[in-house]
Amino acid sequence: MEKNRVIEIKGHTIGGNEKVIIAGPCAVESKEQIMQSAEQLSRLGVNFLRGGVFKPRTSPHSFQGLGEEGLNYIRQAADAFDMLVVSEIMSIDQLNRFADKIDIIQIGARNMYNYSLLKELGKLAKPVILKRAFSATYEEWALATEYITHGGNQDVILVERGIRTFERSLRFTFDVSAFPYMKKLTKLPIIADPSHAAGERDFVLPLAKAGLAAGADGVIVEVHPEPEQALSDGDQSIVLAEFGEFLAGIRPLM
Ligand code: PEP
Ligand code: MN
Repeated sequence: MEKNRVIEIKGHTIGGNEKVIIAGPCAVESKEQIMQSAEQLSRLGVNFLRGGVFKPRTSPHSFQGLGEEGLNYIRQAADAFDMLVVSEIMSIDQLNRFADKIDIIQIGARNMYNYSLLKELGKLAKPVILKRAFSATYEEWALATEYITHGGNQDVILVERGIRTFERSLRFTFDVSAFPYMKKLTKLPIIADPSHAAGERDFVLPLAKAGLAAGADGVIVEVHPEPEQALSDGDQSIVLAEFGEFLAGIRPLM
């Protein structure tokens, strides 16, 4: 039987025995914000720092991200605290210009069907996070991974971030079946994103636990020093000062 893929990156593994924690703000907003986040997260033992600089916002009137300037800030923050950078790329042009500053390239839910972008990622020697589109079936999501892997890059990490169903009380519906099913189907690591599914801070911990209990290889969580001031996804961001409690909550499942 084909073995589950274990991804090795700068001394860390994803998809092996250890479960990974990726944390940080939805968007990089300032040098201070990302530095403060990196400092406190690294102190809590988090090795992967997330932060968007090219933001795929539903509304063109919302904050679009700091772009290259923000990427320099998150790179500096990660380097200062010996962390790895996880950040989203939205286009081939951005990929060509900025991939070297990112350790794990995130492809957001809105770009899962962007096959020309996925094909370019296949030529890269660097792990890629492929988030599930709002309405993608397991088969569509699995086929999307093949646009990357057929190009030669086998290091794809799936992220379940909630899907759109008839239920509208939370932001999305977190699909726990994705963890065992996609792992069996693709053999790729799969991580839980409880933040975007929940949309509200109070639901992030229970969804993270559910994902891990269902076999997730880790979690990607939005954290902000001052969520009420956040320029994106503040409502679902865990308060940085309270992230230790969040980690204590998931520790029995890690
Ligand atoms: C994000 O990670 O901030 C994000 C935009 O996620 P998604 O693509 O899942 O909506
Ligand atoms: Mn977000």
